Amino acid sequence: MERIKMTTPLVEMDGDEMTRVLWTMIKDELLLPFVELKTEYYDLGLPNRDATADQVTWDAANANKKYGVSVKCATITPNAQRMQEYHLHEMWKSPNGTIRAVLDGTVFRAPILISSIKPLVKNWKKPITIARHAYGDVYKASELRVKGRGRAELVFTAEDGTQTRQTIYDFEGPGVLQGSFNKDSSIESFARSCFAFALSTGQDLWFACKDTVSKTYDGQFRDVFARLYEEEYRAPFEKAGLHYYYNLIDAAVAKVLLSEGGFIWACKNYDGDVMSDLLSTAYGSLAMMTSVLVSPDGCYEYEAAHGTVPDHYELYKKGEMPSTNPIATIYAWTGALAKRGELDGIPALTQFAHQLEKACIDVLESGVMTGDLCGIVEGITPTRVNTAEFIAAIRKNLEQRLGA
Ligand code: NAP
Ligand code: MG
Repeated sequence: MERIKMTTPLVEMDGDEMTRVLWTMIKDELLLPFVELKTEYYDLGLPNRDATADQVTWDAANANKKYGVSVKCATITPNAQRMQEYHLHEMWKSPNGTIRAVLDGTVFRAPILISSIKPLVKNWKKPITIARHAYGDVYKASELRVKGRGRAELVFTAEDGTQTRQTIYDFEGPGVLQGSFNKDSSIESFARSCFAFALSTGQDLWFACKDTVSKTYDGQFRDVFARLYEEEYRAPFEKAGLHYYYNLIDAAVAKVLLSEGGFIWACKNYDGDVMSDLLSTAYGSLAMMTSVLVSPDGCYEYEAAHGTVPDHYELYKKGEMPSTNPIATIYAWTGALAKRGELDGIPALTQFAHQLEKACIDVLESGVMTGDLCGIVEGITPTRVNTAEFIAAIRKNLEQRLGA
């Protein structure tokens, strides 16, 4: 069988621990036999980030900006314990944070569904994609502990020195204070990424915040979405038969639970943090959750939503083959390859990616699965396999599909 050729390099970001092991297995077994992979490789494994003083992360993010599409393996975000374990020169920042800052993107997360894993919400039939604005608000806020009586004020000093001032509260005793911000440019990027992603995946878009209480701050988010929709996106949405809805966040929660899914739910930073954990748990498993960062100018970074699965890596280092679920990492590759095929006009590449996804689903539907899923499936008796056996089963199915 002739391997599929690529024209533009896909930016490949390798990572850490068990997911680094999965990375090589997926490439060797499921990709290289069928595709002449053309990638620009960046090793974002923690040892190389340390050796390059994190330059490799910046280079990879800039390559993503240059070529448009990347696929990323899970990486360790260092903490004090990792500093010791890896003898690091510095506590390097989260690579995901760096890539997000370079691409100014929005993160979209969606579950992969199979018939034997029933969502906890029984009327959900289709995936719900969460779009989280990954900038500002409480994550970049300044906080103060107030020790006693006094006046707290919000002061803005303009470039020309003029001040706008507002009393927050006259404290009669100790308390706490918080100042958070966001930028019109970032809110606009967020809204554009959401509208573009809705169009590219053919799904309705919901945006929700609390503009009844936060009239200026959340009101700005609501207004930016509404303005961009009217000015730029209403026509393409109507042409595609899609809708944009604004809801109050509390009303949205009720509607989401009563819906059958199949739409994109855009959330402010904190709401998105909380709601994405709620959704991944309700859909069954973090190991079945895909994640893609989309920039307002149309760059894509695909990855799994889970981390490097360190406890499975401990087993692997002892010579055992763990039962780590590779599905979300495989889908990171298929998402990236399908997008590359779409952008470069290589339908065979996009079709291959879809066939590989179908092979994954076939194997899972047949009851063959990794340990994490065995405990949550219903209505079938699962066969527990290790990662190597699972990937071999997917390869066999894929070969049948491709007539290889
Ligand atoms: P994690 O690696 O996602 O693992 C948490 C637990 O979830 C695992 O112990 C395992 O449970 C289960 N799990 C996750 N993925 C699985 C899979 N594919 N197959 C089977 N089980 C899976 O999260 P963590 O332990 O909090 O973080 C570990 C490291 O990953 C940290 O250094 C963190 O910085 C990094 N991280 C990276 C990213 C990223 O790059 N996007 C995201 C999150 C975390 P059992 O032990 O019960 O089997
Ligand atoms: Mg969280």
